Amino acid sequence: MISSDTHFERYSRQTRFAPIGATGQQRLSESAVLVLGCGALGSAIANALVRSGVGTVRIVDRDFVEESNLQRQLLFDEADAAAGAPKAIAAAEKLRAINSQVRIESHVADVTRHNLPQLAAGVQLIIDGTDNFETRLLLNDYSVREGVPWIYGGVVGAEGQVLVVLPGESACFACLLPEPPAPGETQTCDTTGVLGPAVSVIAALQCIEALKILTHSMDVVTRELIVVDLWPIRFRILTLSPNTGAEGCRVCQQHQFDWLSGQRGGEPVVLCGRNAVQISPSTPQHVDLPRIAAQLASVGAVTQNAHLVRLSLGQQQLTLFADGRVIVSGVDEVAAARKLVAQYMGM
Ligand SMILES: [Zn+2]
Repeated sequence: MISSDTHFERYSRQTRFAPIGATGQQRLSESAVLVLGCGALGSAIANALVRSGVGTVRIVDRDFVEESNLQRQLLFDEADAAAGAPKAIAAAEKLRAINSQVRIESHVADVTRHNLPQLAAGVQLIIDGTDNFETRLLLNDYSVREGVPWIYGGVVGAEGQVLVVLPGESACFACLLPEPPAPGETQTCDTTGVLGPAVSVIAALQCIEALKILTHSMDVVTRELIVVDLWPIRFRILTLSPNTGAEGCRVCQQHQFDWLSGQRGGEPVVLCGRNAVQISPSTPQHVDLPRIAAQLASVGAVTQNAHLVRLSLGQQQLTLFADGRVIVSGVDEVAAARKLVAQYMGM
């Protein structure tokens, strides 16, 4: 049990809230949560979980910090952007300074069907801080197959949505969205922008649901779809039942996990709001970064740290991570990105 006075005082405003109490706080301290993506939503979510005393917070992010992130991504600062630090690493440093009692685990990686089971090992809950529907459908497959709850959050402009997925109990994400929208079919941060306070509202709703689940207050967990518009302000709670018709939900009714089995997904992705494309190796790799940095030194300006090698070529930048992924900045077409990667990285 939690016994130290320091510990008690630290969380006193939370334990005085009767539905949590000392028992709930103890449950939080024994919990492990995976936060997928550490951009705007993920930063706010990880911040709240760490401050609330969740025992283990595992964060995963594939990207690095840029100046245009600072308007809404609360764990990063100008030094992180200047260094092009991986978000998972920069976030972990801030989070450890916020609460040294929490075990913070960080992974610089793209979430794939290969690494998701390992990333999610031992967690009681997964929270969505990603920016794309393919990863959410993959996560939904995993959640339903393994019976691990997850909390979807999405925000664009000043609007957002939250859905808690309780496998076997509530509608799953594929009941809401069976297929990822076609490119150009939905608004993105690229086309519509996104407001920092809107992100904070959606992240806060995800975190309040997380606190309910982690403290076993299941009777108050929201099973409906929460739709928020903040400009002007309008909150809606929409009933969403599992899709049980003749053509019922592929995932939670028919148990077809196409994203997890690899029948779907794995394509290059255009990163939301970034003028950048990510190219991934078909199988996981471990790249010898110093060797590649030496090879590229004659081609252009090369910078390097423990997690990545970056080649600058005028308008374009190629950033190679240790897991073999390359993020090509300064292009917005997959074909152009592929060409550069083939040219300079031989992938
Ligand atoms: Zn479903």
